[in-house]
Amino acid sequence: MNHFDLTAHAWLDLFQSGKATPQEAADAVLQRASQVNAKTNAFIRLNDKVRAQGGPCPVAIAIKDNICVNGHLTTCGSKILEGFIPPYDACVVEKIKAAGGIILGSANMDEFAFGSSCETSAYGPARNPWALDRVPGGSSGGSAASVAAGQAVWALGSDTGGSIRQPASFCGVVGLKPTYGRVSRYGLIAFGSSLDQIGPITKDVKDCAKLLAIIAGFDERDSTSVNVPVPDYAAALVKDVKGLRIGVPKEYFIDGIEPDVLAAVQKAVQYYRDHGAVIVNVNLPHTEYALATYYIIATAEASSNLARFDGVAFGLRAAPSKVRKNPLMDMYEETRARGFGDEAKRRIMLGTYVLSSGYYDAYYLRAQKVRTLIKQDFENAFQACDVILSPTSPTTAFKVGEKISDPLAMYLSDVFTIPANMAGVPAISLPCGFDRSKLPVGLQLMARPFAEDVLLRAAYAYEQATGWHRERAVL
Ligand code: GLN
Repeated sequence: MNHFDLTAHAWLDLFQSGKATPQEAADAVLQRASQVNAKTNAFIRLNDKVRAQGGPCPVAIAIKDNICVNGHLTTCGSKILEGFIPPYDACVVEKIKAAGGIILGSANMDEFAFGSSCETSAYGPARNPWALDRVPGGSSGGSAASVAAGQAVWALGSDTGGSIRQPASFCGVVGLKPTYGRVSRYGLIAFGSSLDQIGPITKDVKDCAKLLAIIAGFDERDSTSVNVPVPDYAAALVKDVKGLRIGVPKEYFIDGIEPDVLAAVQKAVQYYRDHGAVIVNVNLPHTEYALATYYIIATAEASSNLARFDGVAFGLRAAPSKVRKNPLMDMYEETRARGFGDEAKRRIMLGTYVLSSGYYDAYYLRAQKVRTLIKQDFENAFQACDVILSPTSPTTAFKVGEKISDPLAMYLSDVFTIPANMAGVPAISLPCGFDRSKLPVGLQLMARPFAEDVLLRAAYAYEQATGWHRERAVL
C-alpha cells in the first residue's frame, strides 16, 4: 500500500515504533495532495507547507471550506465570501489543533453546502477519484474525494441532509453524521441550523471512532450542544454483532434503487443475519414526506442564515456602476446578485417564500409538524431494533453534468439520508461493495440519539469481516 493510502491509526503505529515522524507523514500527504489535485479538485486551497506541532494525534486533515480556521480563507465554496478570513477557530478546529492535527487546506464543497455533487462550488466541481468523469457526491465532496485519493489522511465534513454520508458512499470511504448536539457547531458557517452537524470522513471505521472522539463533546458556545458524556468510542470496536437487533425499513427498499446497490445492501443484511444479529422489519411510515419537508425547513433556515451576506461585514462587496434605488440598497443587491450562485439563489427564494406571511402556516409550520412525525417514526422503530439499515443513496456516483440542470433529480440523491437529520439521530455510511462499473456502494446504519458507539460496533464488525475498506481508487 502507498504511504498516502495509510489510515491515521496506521500512521500513529509508525510514529510510535519510530518508523516515521509526523512531519514526514504530513509532507508525504501534502505532496500527494498537490500532485493529484489538478485531477480531483478536492482542495480549493492547499497550504504550501505544513508543520507538525506534536500532540497525541498529529495527522494531516482536510477541513471543509465552511468550517472556520483562524487566519485562513474560509469561503463555503462561494464567491460571496471571497477574502473572508475568520479571526477565530471553529470548536472542532481548536480540538483538532489541540490533538496535534495538521491542517492541509480547505476542501471543496457545494456552495454553502447546497447540493449533492460538488458541482455548485464557485471553484469548479470536485471529481470522484474512482472515475474522474463522475461526481464525488456532495456537499462534502472535496472532503470525501481527498480521503479517497490519499490527499488527506482524514477529513471533516458537514451534514445537513446527507452531505457527509452521500459523498462518503460515492467515494468508498466512511462518513458519520453525529447526533444533533454531539459535536459543536461553533464556527461552522450555518446552512440549516436545526439540522447541521460536523462529522468525520475517514478510510475506515477505527479512524472514524478516533476522529469522532477528538471532535465530540459539550461546548457552551453552541446553544444546541448537549452536555452528555462522550463514551469511549474505541471500546465499541469489537468484532461482534451477536444479539444486535438490525431494523430493515421497507420504506427504504423502493423502486429506483439501482440493482447493484440493492444487491450489495442485501448482502450486508445477510452478513448480519449470519453473524448472530437479529433482523427485524421496521416501519418508518412518514419517510415519503421527508424530502419535501426537508426542502421547506432547510431552505427556510438557509434563507435566514444567508441574510447576513450583504457586502457589509463579510467577504465580497460589489459596487453597481449606476445608482438604481439608493447606494446602500444597490450595493446589497449587486453583492448578492454577483456573489451567490444559482443554487444558492434558488434556496434563498424558496426559503423566503415558505416563510412569507401568507404561506408560513401552509408550508413552514406544517413542515415542522411533519418533522415531529418523522422523529416519532424513529422513536417507535428504535423500540424494536438497535440499528436501522438502508442504502446510503439509491445510486452510485453519477456523471458530472448529469443532474445539475434538474434540481429535483439531484435532491432525490438524499432521499435516504435526510430523515436522520430531520430526527436528529446519528448515522454512518460505510463501503459495502461495488457496482458493475467498479463504483463504490455505501451502506447506511442509523441509531438512537447519542448511540454513535452502537453504530461504530455494527460498522466495525461488518467492515473487518468484508474488507471493502481496503480497496483504493487508483489515480
Ligand atoms: N444535498 C442536500 C441539500 O442539497 C444536503 C446538503 C447537506 O447535507 N449539506 O440540501
